[in-house]
Amino acid sequence: MDFLPLFCQLQHKPVLIVGGGEVAVRKARLLLDAKARVTINAPHLEHQLMSWAEQGLLTVCAADFHPELLDGKWLVIAATDNPEVNHQIFSEASLRQTFCNVVDSPAHCSAIMPAIIDRSPLMVAISSAGAAPVLSRQLREKIEAMLPQHLGQLATLAGRLRERVKLIPDKLARRHFWERLFRHERLARQLARGQQQAAEESINALLNEPQQSKGCVTLVGAGPGDAGLLTLNGLQQLQQADVVVYDRLVSDDVLSLIRRDAEQIFVGKEAGRHCVPQQAINQLLLDQARQGKQVVRLKGGDPFIFGRGGEELETLAEAGIPFSVVPGITAASGCAAYSGIPLTHRDHAQRVQFITGHDKEGNIAQEWSALAAPRQTLVFYMGLAHAGRIQDELQTHGLPGHTPVALVEQGTHLQQRVVRGELQQLAQLATQVGSPSLIIIGSVVTLADKLDWYGEANTLAGM
Ligand code: SAH
Repeated sequence: MDFLPLFCQLQHKPVLIVGGGEVAVRKARLLLDAKARVTINAPHLEHQLMSWAEQGLLTVCAADFHPELLDGKWLVIAATDNPEVNHQIFSEASLRQTFCNVVDSPAHCSAIMPAIIDRSPLMVAISSAGAAPVLSRQLREKIEAMLPQHLGQLATLAGRLRERVKLIPDKLARRHFWERLFRHERLARQLARGQQQAAEESINALLNEPQQSKGCVTLVGAGPGDAGLLTLNGLQQLQQADVVVYDRLVSDDVLSLIRRDAEQIFVGKEAGRHCVPQQAINQLLLDQARQGKQVVRLKGGDPFIFGRGGEELETLAEAGIPFSVVPGITAASGCAAYSGIPLTHRDHAQRVQFITGHDKEGNIAQEWSALAAPRQTLVFYMGLAHAGRIQDELQTHGLPGHTPVALVEQGTHLQQRVVRGELQQLAQLATQVGSPSLIIIGSVVTLADKLDWYGEANTLAGM
């Protein structure tokens, strides 16, 4: 981090702007908005600066820059058109430990002025540390469009409510009150229309609702890796959660979207090695929800596809804990899309089967003759350990040895690798990839020759 974002209280504090042109006007306007005591140092001043001086809003020192002007200043802005003078101001300010901003010269800044979205008291500031000001500006436009004008009123109102809300004894219930307040659509409309009286009534109604926080669990599918594949509902849940219980397949990019203050509990499972037994996870979810928390159970892919989501919910249902489910993109969809292998295609496969390589006891018990039928695509989850068996059984039951196969490792991640070959090589191909990997079998695999848009498939010789 090159610059620490910091919001400064400059009210009635002396600051200096050196320069009297357009840029000085812009900076002076901001500093006057922040109610700083502004001195302008320049031999000649823009009309606007003169006018502010005449109104007594700022002080003018109409001379060349001299270092004593920095004495007692909290901040100085160097906005002259002379780089040497600007650099001198920076050096002198550094000696005095006064924050200095040299306009358009990031190397000579101990403070930078970010692009801002002002919904006072709510303020959003964006900076690229001078590296890409246009990018910061574009971001500001986007965020500006996203944030309704009434947010400032809402934040002011929240400030006024703080003392009353403190009377709600339970910390969690207080936080849930704020969550409800800021998501209250009717209140938002009332504020936007300036209906003050109605807004007060909505707030009173909200304060009078029972504040006992009631726990619940949301099972959220995190998708296969790329955070862009998380659903909007999933993101919203991650932003509201008090606690997130997640396992190994959830990518770091998705974890970074969790609300910062939320507790994160890892209950990771490695294939065949359960770090936390399923029974203990079920119990953990119950305990957390019973404490009144909003619990998110975050799982790789889709929680209802080989995710034991059903088992965890059964326990909650039996205990009467409210729950909901946000689906996710399952590994088969993610890996297929990111390796250019459509799972069905009218010329190749009219059916797709998702198959687990493990049953509860870790075995692979399948109806092999049904799986070996033609014109379908097979997708094996957790299949690496049994690749040899899958190869043998499918061939024994009539699937030709030259049927195309693909193994997708870390699908949809930046590190995604795709290894392709034929069914008769499957056991050997499985030794070339690590976990997690998905096995796709069927002639649709050949379509990747044309449709692979995400990465170079590691095609074996002979394909
Ligand atoms: N609920 C998950 C599946 C959990 S089973 C889902 O819907 O995707 C775990 C198996 O999923 C792994 O052994 C692997 O076969 C597959 N898998 C999950 N994420 C994967 C990824 N990013 N790339 C390849 N395979 C993945």
